Amino acid sequence: MSQAHPQELSGFTTFRLGGPAPQVTVANTRDELLDFCAAHPLELSGQEQAHVLFIGGGSNLLIADAGFDGAVCVVRTAGVETAETTTTDTRVTAEAGEDWDAFVAHTLDLGLSGLEALSGIPGSVGATPIQNVGAYGTEVGELISSVEVFDRVAGQIRHLTAVELEFGYRTSALKRAQIAAGTPQFVVLSVTFDLQRSDESLPVRYAQLASTLDVEIGTRVPAARVRENVIALRRSKGMVLDAADHDSWSAGSFFTNPVLGVEQAAELPADAPRFPVRSATPETTTGPSLGVVDPALVKTSAAWLIERAGFTKGFGLAGEHSPARLSTRHTLAITNRGGATAADLVALARTVRDGVREKFGIELEPEPVLVGLAL
Ligand SMILES: Cc1cc2nc3c(=O)[nH]c(=O)nc-3n(C[C@H](O)[C@H](O)[C@H](O)COP(=O)(O)OP(=O)(O)OC[C@H]3O[C@@H](n4cnc5c(N)ncnc54)[C@H](O)[C@@H]3O)c2cc1C
Repeated sequence: MSQAHPQELSGFTTFRLGGPAPQVTVANTRDELLDFCAAHPLELSGQEQAHVLFIGGGSNLLIADAGFDGAVCVVRTAGVETAETTTTDTRVTAEAGEDWDAFVAHTLDLGLSGLEALSGIPGSVGATPIQNVGAYGTEVGELISSVEVFDRVAGQIRHLTAVELEFGYRTSALKRAQIAAGTPQFVVLSVTFDLQRSDESLPVRYAQLASTLDVEIGTRVPAARVRENVIALRRSKGMVLDAADHDSWSAGSFFTNPVLGVEQAAELPADAPRFPVRSATPETTTGPSLGVVDPALVKTSAAWLIERAGFTKGFGLAGEHSPARLSTRHTLAITNRGGATAADLVALARTVRDGVREKFGIELEPEPVLVGLAL
């Protein structure tokens, strides 16, 4: 394990923001990660805890300019194992620090399908179950069979099944425990996926992707084609990491799509997007295989609300030269144009959230994890 030493956290996040931390440890192996966890137990006593922060790819983190006054562990563990479980399925387990998109590409190279629509998402494998990463009609929770965690309260390794993980729309039991304790209770060590041995994709579920592929919704196509098209679509929206593209100096979508009761949704203008919500868990989800449609709930589009509240692509508080602006290609991404501070980003996010509340009475919730900051 690299010795803990002070470092600027901006070097670890895709916003390129975050001040200093006195002790940053990089865990390159599972033993190093377990040593760090053992040295930083968690007591759910309600008393103030020593602060601990885990960082994977830093693509869903907005860290304060003042930094983080505690112990930071950067998870860089590596390794992928496969085992054929049935005549059609292969179980693949990846260590938490593996790069997500490289892992997706690897599964496709192995002739395994399922993860193709989640191509091009930045970050680590270990972070994906936490917010149940999703894109283009697939959520990772649909394909996860279990997650191996270190429980910092019990001080032991546990294997949580998909049912115990209670996946919902951008949430899971892991995320809820993290919010409750203010720090992760469950440190993800590895994630296990059940994937089909097939070169064909899952049925295409997302209208824009189907149209790009020139197929009907529900069609299966070569999984490699889905990957290529998803990456091209993402790139056109600044949603693929690219140091030269400031639209990708972000955490992807800054706000989640609001889930509304049917009465509140009925008050939205007729042309507001409305999507079904499935409830297989205590929370709500849109994952197509994760439950039945809940007739009491409707999901709308945060990007649509933001645009209709008057915030256009590229919007900044001080005009086009603002250091923090909405992406020039996607109103849902808040971006650092180079010289922004975390405080600049928060000021912009507050303005957008308040504008949507004023216009529609809907409270947008941030998707990234805010460290030392609040909206
Ligand atoms: C350009 C861009 C596009 C994006 N597109 C999407 C998208 O389409 N869909 C989507 O869902 N998300 C998207 N995101 C958000 C982000 O990529 C995902 O949430 C990703 O899974 C975060 O992974 P990470 O390793 O970077 O996590 P980090 O940002 O490092 O951490 C996020 C949270 O997870 C915790 N954490 C990290 N690793 C562990 C671990 N091993 N154990 C316990 N806790 C841990 C951290 O403490 C933190 O609370 C996008 C981000 C960017 C920048």
